[in-house]
Amino acid sequence: MEGLRLSRSIVGSGEGDAVRRVIEENGYLGMGSEVQAFENELAAYLGVAQGDVTCVNSGTAALHLAVLACLPEGGEVLVPTLTYVASFQAVRMAGAIPIACDVLPESGLIDLADAKKRVTPRTRAIMPVHYASNPGDLEAVYAFAREHTLRVIEDAAHAFGNTYKGRKIGAAGDVVCFSFDGIKNITCGEGGALVSRDPAVTALARDARLLSVENDTEKRYAGARSWDFDVTRIGFRYHMSNIMAAIGRAQLKRLDGEFAPARRALSRQYRQRLKHHPDIAFFEADLEEMVPHIQPVRVLNAKREKLAEHLKKNGIPTGMHYKPNHLLTFFAQSGPPLPVAEQLAREIITLPLHPGLSENDVTLICDEIERGLQP
Ligand SMILES: *Cc1c(COP(=O)(O)O)cnc(C)c1O
Repeated sequence: MEGLRLSRSIVGSGEGDAVRRVIEENGYLGMGSEVQAFENELAAYLGVAQGDVTCVNSGTAALHLAVLACLPEGGEVLVPTLTYVASFQAVRMAGAIPIACDVLPESGLIDLADAKKRVTPRTRAIMPVHYASNPGDLEAVYAFAREHTLRVIEDAAHAFGNTYKGRKIGAAGDVVCFSFDGIKNITCGEGGALVSRDPAVTALARDARLLSVENDTEKRYAGARSWDFDVTRIGFRYHMSNIMAAIGRAQLKRLDGEFAPARRALSRQYRQRLKHHPDIAFFEADLEEMVPHIQPVRVLNAKREKLAEHLKKNGIPTGMHYKPNHLLTFFAQSGPPLPVAEQLAREIITLPLHPGLSENDVTLICDEIERGLQP
């Protein structure tokens, strides 16, 4: 199986045309009207008001600004340990402390019973991660947050295009952060967005992405710049460029009709083929509501290394989402152990999943998985 990829960007002539349009017609490659148009299209897609969406240059930047806006005095944020290190670094970048929480074995999502044990007088927020595109019981997360008076910052990097109870992820909730990096459900090359109905959060994010130059967003959308301005707080260089937005606009048009059904069909095929295998366990998923970004599975009976080796030998790349963050030197913590995440970390393997895969590819991958697990 030559040239098989674990994940990849699916871009073509539509994205190429969009970039050419910015270069040849707009002529302004930085942040301008193209970003405004993308934000408005994202707002319409998600079903939120214009102005509730703020585009930035990465998902990590969106999370950083969200934490900064929600925790002006710092404090602690409850984060599931089974996530990309971006979630943890974003909290630290904002001067807050990520508190690693254990996860549920059936979904890899934050275990609220474990999180409850880690609540202190300094806890200010919870950051649920929609691992493998599953938002899980979001209502329970919001109920937990109300009970402990916490902000909720959703790391929805895997879940762009998903619905929850019939509404898009991002259509409701406190602060919701998306990533448009090269391999996410849609891409801008790199990029991200923060969605919130809290005007204090969006006002901070819109200024802080432009070095906190006051109202620079409005100026740039009108094709102008600020020269006589004030700055009253720390700021960053996090804005999205017109080039990135143009790619994102082309990708957004392809999501529901092309990318989402392809990802769902491939994920469904893996499940149907392998769900009865004694050495494989799938995480819970409602594929009606999800646009699956990655395809992790648990390999039981201590056979993960053997399987990974077999697949590699046969040209099938695999991944591991994720090494738990509390096992990283910088994020080591004291407190109760996190046994479920550590068990999952010994079992998880991520199988290839992207819209460039064919049904035949998945059949061949499953054949090799069965072969690799033979006694
Ligand atoms: C991709 C990702 C991010 C960060 O997004 P970037 O755009 O790469 O900065 C954050 N959290 C999770 C779970 C991710 O997968």
